[in-house]
Amino acid sequence: MSRILIAECKQEISSFNPVTCTYDNFTVNSGEQLFTYHNNMESEISGALSVFRQRSDLTLIPAYGARSTSAGPLEQESFNRIASAFINAIQEHAQNIDACYFAMHGAMGTTEELDPEGYLLQEARKILGPDVPIVLSLDLHGILTERMLTHSNGLALYHTYPHVDFANTGERAAKLLLRILDDNVKPVVARVRVPVLVRGDELITETGVFGQSIRYAQQLEKQENVLAAGMMIGNPFTDVPELCTQSVVVTNNDPDLAQKEALQMAQDFWSRRSQMQPKFSSISEAIDQANKRKGPFIFTDAADAPSSGAPGDSNALLAALIEHNYQGQVLLPIVDAPAVQKAFEAGVGKTITIELGGRLDPRF
Ligand SMILES: [Zn+2]
Repeated sequence: MSRILIAECKQEISSFNPVTCTYDNFTVNSGEQLFTYHNNMESEISGALSVFRQRSDLTLIPAYGARSTSAGPLEQESFNRIASAFINAIQEHAQNIDACYFAMHGAMGTTEELDPEGYLLQEARKILGPDVPIVLSLDLHGILTERMLTHSNGLALYHTYPHVDFANTGERAAKLLLRILDDNVKPVVARVRVPVLVRGDELITETGVFGQSIRYAQQLEKQENVLAAGMMIGNPFTDVPELCTQSVVVTNNDPDLAQKEALQMAQDFWSRRSQMQPKFSSISEAIDQANKRKGPFIFTDAADAPSSGAPGDSNALLAALIEHNYQGQVLLPIVDAPAVQKAFEAGVGKTITIELGGRLDPRF
């Protein structure tokens, strides 16, 4: 009977957001609550559970989970609280664990610690010792650091953007963990860093050029000796020392194969980099285009997306539309809680005059 401990710590931050976030941003589950939370949910842990639960010879130990939507940097004190709970939950079972599965994102950052996941893994390793395998799942926007590699044994990566393979990634991580326990495979990880940071439509895996890298990784994963493969493009707004794009290949005790394929993936990505450079329009050009067609139009500032951790309250586009005396209908997302409150107070169908945006980050 093998005992597998499962834990989670996930967030993506934007270092450029001046508003820090705290413990209160997180949904936290301890012990059995972790599985209750994930049951019937499309998540890495639910995917992993679906694999583990097919077996009668495993004991699953739900330890701890903390997850938050994207935000500004996490206050160190809040991270300390999460880290203590994460580590204590492992400590509680430390004498009786055969393997660990950790669901992580990879793009966390605190006001002081620029590699929080690496810290958690380092502390987990101190408790567990060198022989307990630790397998991770990570978002392809995560930053796999040297410390994370040192203190883990293998990993599975998202293969889709927009992300629709949470559960599938958890399944792949669980299968990798079971191969370590059952077949005694010896994962070796190779990664090759590519000196680019990319964003834009070509990163959509189903339709964009980035999909070629993913399909190559998926073909690799079909090989008997390849335990996992993927491409991590990092979150460009998580401004930490090890932020990069990197190919990652995990093989069964075959470092040459891992290195060869990681290098191949990195070279292929590098050769396609110019296709992944988005073409931007200036605000004036965008308004000119809108004037020539029938609306309504959506104006968004992708670099100010709350889904990547930005405040989302820049009013630069709105100011330009007013300046250009644009007369059409526009959908323009701006985060502004007091403005929403005033709109509710006024009621449906009323017109109000308000200042909009720039409350969280007045720089833009
Ligand atoms: Zn992501």
